[in-house]
Amino acid sequence: MTKQSTATGLAITLRSQFHNTSCRVRVHADGTLSARQIARVRRENCGQSYCECGGIHGPQYLNDGRKIMLEPRWGAGTNDAPSRYVVLVRSGDGDWQPLRVAEQS
Ligand SMILES: [Zn+2]
Repeated sequence: MTKQSTATGLAITLRSQFHNTSCRVRVHADGTLSARQIARVRRENCGQSYCECGGIHGPQYLNDGRKIMLEPRWGAGTNDAPSRYVVLVRSGDGDWQPLRVAEQS
């Protein structure tokens, strides 16, 4: 399951604790997920437009157990939906730092 033959080599699992569902996505080399990927996670984990869980609900973790969160980034000139999401990893001293994909393979 963890083996990937892609350029990035890193997939993460995003969960909705609300539905007890999960979905794997491949992190881009710059440590981000695209809005399209997040949309797929929301659809597969939840799929209900009226649901408050948003498809990504509860604490999220890497396979190695480190906690992660997603930080939305808006592209220039847009003010509606985020265009990308930066994956932030909680380090041992409690700081949130961008996920470095290269170190994960
Ligand atoms: Zn839901």
